[in-house]
This record gives sequence, structure tokens and C-alpha cells, in this order.
Amino acid sequence: MAEHESLEFGKADFVLLDNVSLEEFMANLKLRFEKGRIYTYIGEVVVSVNPYRAMNIYGRDTIEQYKGRELYERPPHLFAIADAAYKAMKRRNKDTCIVISGESGAGKTEASKYIMQYIAAITNPGQRAEVERVKNMLLKSNCVLEAFGNAKTNRNDNSSRFGKYMDINFDFKGDPIGGHINNYLLEKSRVIFQQEGERSFHSFYQGTNTFQLLSSIDDGADFKAVADAMKVIGFTADELQTVYKVLATILHLGNLTFGVDGDTTLIENSKVVAVIGDLLATKEENVEKALLYRTVATGRDVIDKQHTAQEASYGRDALAKAMYERMFCWIVGRINDVIEVKNYDAKVHGKNTVIGVLDIYGFEIFQNNSFEQFCINYCNEKLQQLFIQLVLRQEQEEYHCNDPLFSLCTWLQHKGIFSVLDEACMNVGKVTDKVFLQGLNSKLVNHAHYTSRKLSPTDKSLEFDRDFRVRHYAGNVVYSVVGFIDKNKDTLFQDFKRLLYNSSNPVLKVMWPEGKLRITEVTKRPLTAATLFKNSMIALVENLACKEPYYVRCIKPNDVKSPLLFEHERCRHQVEYLGLLENVRVRRAGFANRQEYPRFLQRYKMISEFTWPNHDLPSEKEAVKKLLQGCGFEQDVAYGKTKVFIRTPRTLFCLEEQRTEM
Ligand code: ATP
Ligand code: MG
Repeated sequence: MAEHESLEFGKADFVLLDNVSLEEFMANLKLRFEKGRIYTYIGEVVVSVNPYRAMNIYGRDTIEQYKGRELYERPPHLFAIADAAYKAMKRRNKDTCIVISGESGAGKTEASKYIMQYIAAITNPGQRAEVERVKNMLLKSNCVLEAFGNAKTNRNDNSSRFGKYMDINFDFKGDPIGGHINNYLLEKSRVIFQQEGERSFHSFYQGTNTFQLLSSIDDGADFKAVADAMKVIGFTADELQTVYKVLATILHLGNLTFGVDGDTTLIENSKVVAVIGDLLATKEENVEKALLYRTVATGRDVIDKQHTAQEASYGRDALAKAMYERMFCWIVGRINDVIEVKNYDAKVHGKNTVIGVLDIYGFEIFQNNSFEQFCINYCNEKLQQLFIQLVLRQEQEEYHCNDPLFSLCTWLQHKGIFSVLDEACMNVGKVTDKVFLQGLNSKLVNHAHYTSRKLSPTDKSLEFDRDFRVRHYAGNVVYSVVGFIDKNKDTLFQDFKRLLYNSSNPVLKVMWPEGKLRITEVTKRPLTAATLFKNSMIALVENLACKEPYYVRCIKPNDVKSPLLFEHERCRHQVEYLGLLENVRVRRAGFANRQEYPRFLQRYKMISEFTWPNHDLPSEKEAVKKLLQGCGFEQDVAYGKTKVFIRTPRTLFCLEEQRTEM
């Protein structure tokens, strides 16, 4: 008996449950986890439970087992979904995307890497040098982006602190010929502050250091591997040096403190300034001036206005954050330069199709939740909304099943919160976080998913004038408004931009093109961080929505990273908010599989005397009918014009069984 039919390991597809109830779902999920079967299907959706241990299921031999197979032929696996997306792309010329979701630490990034490895392994049988080059770049880019964009948090030792969407382009042969990475809002505040027990980005921990910015000293990421990967991608020695210099500058900035002497603001440890000047290839006095003054245009005059110590500290932190973010985006841009498809002529090469892989930061709740968590959780909410639309709704429409299954459609319209924030930031004069909270309270007073202490005075878990709580699809999160306004405005004094642009290090200069503008030429107010983020999310969702989606739904089994522990409550909560049970119901109401008649016949004709070795029926459709009648599956199928529809995976598994028994 094939493994995926064996009851010892539970049901390979939740659609096969005898009763679709939460209890049965959970029992099956748990049984499979305990038996080391971390993947289970819901039709074409893969449910994955983080094993928190090395699994021997990603090797070359396993890859071979999945290559070119149909989903139901093998035990559930990420490789099967990757293969399905690949086949859809190759055979049907479809642009596809693989959307990996789940909360922080659930296994999204690991899954995305296995999927990419699989695609790399099964393509380019002809070993074309250019394709090998592209594949190598795509894989290497993961390592680089993780070093600069991931960090240890209290939820995950290797937590993605940015969102990543990677397109892989294929030529008509189905071989990767390029790619493109879109990155979304990096949590840059991490370079200046980390919550207790957390770390800054991995990139900072190359060897020992004694900088104040780092809350612990650790061996951290293997920087040699990263440097090697960067070299392979094509970063020059100068570029690598500049990257290290930027990292060092940020660390030195963290040691810089300001004081006052009478009316004068001054830098207390001015030696650091010399070091920074050196690192940035600019004069020490330029650095000092940019830290202590800002140039303002008053009418026709341009004057230097001295910062207070507080303003100077603010500027210093903004500089550290901006330098890191800018460098990160520059790295992504450099990778894109190298992997982007160039000179593609569809007439010569056939249609250029893509598979997109989305791996974002998962939903998270911390002790303190701020603007960044709000954006991250908003992003997850958006993707959940898309899942409902694409998977749950689509099936429902396609098969006209009218079960009222959509208790899920209660996601929050966050637009409210972002627009109140932007309004608050537009105000002239001193806008405080408190004013923003007041705005929320008056605008969202009747919103079922929003509350604050003012609106719920007896709720002691909320601090007056500081907290608000949002009911997200995945849980309630208390956000502190402290810092929202600043983070949304995201001001970086122009003086810093000019400082960096005027560096004699050309690599650094390239990162800061807007430093070219003179003070009098800067007129436009930059878009707020929330607006930029919201727009990028809208673009992302639009992009995903026009592709054929494949889903991986990741579940985190416990909060202690244990390979043994299946915390029932934690898992149940995720199953519920991910809408997995609804997914099963919709799937059962619809059809699990559809196949074109010739293909179906080709695969199963040996199990029926009417079709083996040849049939004498008027059409392939008739032949398939005859075959299925003979096996007693008549009740479970429907016949379309060109395809046979099979309702339950069990039928497929049975057909497969009979086929292998022949
Ligand atoms: P975040 O949203 O914080 O980025 P994530 O969903 O991307 O979280 P991962 O970084 O993929 O989570 O996984 C967290 C950790 O769980 C990994 O570092 C690894 O230790 C373990 N893990 C996840 N998936 C697997 C797997 N398939 N096999 C073995 N270990 C895994
Ligand atoms: Mg991740």
C-alpha cells in the first residue's frame, strides 16, 4: 500500500476526513506531526507544521520522486506544490505564484528556500551555462538577503524583518532565465533598538565587537558565506568594503552622544566623529556639522540652525536607520541588476512566464508592539483576505456551492488607521502620538475591531493615552502609539543626504542620489512610510491576484522551538484563523482534481479491460466514462467538455493504487 493511503500516518489530505470537524482536523494534524509527516494537503493547498528538527526529506532522491508527478501520486510535500506550479507554468503557459503564509516562526522562509531549491534542481537538464548562472544567483541571493534582512526575535531566531517577493522568469523550455526581487518595508528601527532578548540584523554580528547598539555579542551569521555569495553575485571588492563601512558607521553612530555647553550643542565623544568621517570618505567637520546643524531656507536666505541635543540624537538615529535601509535596498537593486532578464525576445525564445514566490514577515505579537508590527500584521491581514478571495471564494463560485461558509470575512479595514495617522502627520505644528490616538478614538469609536482605554475604561490591559487594541484575524494586538508619528514621517534631515552624496566613495554616493539637490530645490513633502507601505501592499496583492496561486499554510506547533511538542491550543488557534476548516469544506464541495481526458486515459487505461490496451469507443471522453463506471467511481466524478472532474482525493488515490497493482 502506498504510504499516503496508510492510516498509520493519518489522512494525507484533510478532504479525506470522515467528518469535517475541528476535532478530527486537529487529531489528524497532530498524528501526522508526531509521525514526522509535516505536510498534509487540502486539495492543492499544503498545510505544513514546523518540525523544528532536520528532516531527511529534501535530498536529491526525494526531488527525483516528485519530479513531473501529479500531486496525489506521492505523499504531500512542498516539492509537489512547486512541481504543480512549475507544470502549470510550463504546460499551460500560466504565470503562477506560491504564497507562503503563517505566523512568525511557522517555517515560511525555510519553505520558500526548499521550493526554490526544487525548481533549481529540476530545471536546465541541458546544463546551459547561462541558466546555471541564473540559478546560482537566485539561490545565492537568499543567503545575502537573510544576512541583511533577518534577525533574532523573541519569536524566531531567524526572523524575516522584510517582505520578499521573488519572480523567477522562465523561457519556453521551462528553464530559469532570470528573476526579480521586490522587497517590502524593512524593520529598520532594529538597528538602533532591540527588545530584550532580541538582536539587530545578522549582518552586524561578524566577530566580536563592543558597540552599544548590539545588546549581545554573538557569533551570528556566517559572514564568510555571505561575502562569498556577494562575490559570486558580482559585488565588487569596493562595494563589499562599502557595505562593511556602512555597518561600522552605524555601530559608531550608536556610541555617539550629545551634550550642551551654554547655548551650544556638542558631541561628547568627538573621536568617534573622526572615525565616521574616515569610514564615509568625507571630512570630519562635515560629519560634525551634519550632526549638529540643519540648513534651512528662510525666504531667500539659507541659514544653519543648531540642533538641540535631543534633535541631534533624533537625527543620529534617523541617519543610522536610513543608512541601513538604503544599503539594503541598494543590495536588492544590485542583485536585480544581475538576475534581471535582459534582451529577451519573445519571438525567438517563446513566451516568458514567471513563478513568483512570496515570503513575508509573519503575523507577530510582542510585549511591545509599534508601527512596525502594525505594518507587518496589516500585510498578513491583506494576504489572508486574498486567500479568502482566491481560494475560498473562487471555488465557491466555480461550483455554485452555496454553503454560507464565510464567517471568515471579518477582516479589518485598516485603511482607517493609516489614514488617521497620515492626517495627523499632515498637521502643521507639534503633532504628538497622543493626538494621533485621539484621532483614532474619535474616528473608530464604533469599530468592532478597535478599542482603547478611553473607549473601554475598565480594561486595565490598556494604558490611557498610549495603547490601542486591534482585533486582527489572527489575534488581538495591543499597540503602543509611542513613535508612530515619527516613524510614519520618517524624517531624515537633508543635510545627511548631502553629506552622503558628497562622499568621495562612489559606491556610497550612488546610494544617495537625492543628496544632489540643494536646500532650495527640495520642495515636495515625501510620502509617509504608511502610505508607501500601503501602496506597495496594494501593488503586491494586484500582482498576486492575476497569477494562478498555490498556497503553503505554515503552522507553528509550539512557542519553545521544540520538535516534540504539539501545543493543541496554539495549533487550533492557527487552524481556525487560517480558515483551514472552511478550506476543507469548500474543497469537498468542489472537486479535488480535474484532468483532460487524453491525459487521464493515458495514465489509467491499464486498469480497465475496456480501455487496455486500446479502446473502441467513439471518443476519449466515452472511454473515460466507461473506465470509471467499471471501477464504481461513477458517483464521485463529473464529466466536463474536455476534462473529467474528480470530487475526492480518495478516488484518485484508489485509481493510483489499482494502477500500481497492475
Ligand atoms: P518569520 O515570519 O519570523 O520570518 P518564518 O515563518 O519565516 O518566520 P522560518 O524562519 O522559516 O520561519 O522558520 C523558523 C525556524 O524553524 C527555522 O530557522 C528552522 O529552525 C525551523 N524550521 C522551519 N521549517 C523547517 C523545516 N522544514 N525543517 C526543519 N526546520 C524548520
Ligand atoms: Mg521568514
